[in-house]
Amino acid sequence: MDVKEFVSYLRVAKGPSSNGEYLCKCPAHDDRTASLCVGTGADGRILVKCQAGCDTRDVVKAMGLKMADLYSDLIKRAVNDLQRTYSLIYVDTLNIRTF
Ligand SMILES: [Zn+2]
Repeated sequence: MDVKEFVSYLRVAKGPSSNGEYLCKCPAHDDRTASLCVGTGADGRILVKCQAGCDTRDVVKAMGLKMADLYSDLIKRAVNDLQRTYSLIYVDTLNIRTF
């Protein structure tokens, strides 16, 4: 999923900004000020940062998602690159093996 789909699971207070960042209500704590920053890293992964200090794992869990969802676009891109090199690959969430 991309950042747009990711924030659809959250209550967006502001965004996207010019650099594609969103400010959302953090689902992992009683958030009154919208302290969760969500953006996209240079490599395509989704970046999540709660200003109140919540662990990213807790945020993702509270959204009903998996940590792997943060990397799904990154993995898709890596798999496409591997498929150009290898004839058969096996993808198991974050474990990518080549044969
Ligand atoms: Zn939080």
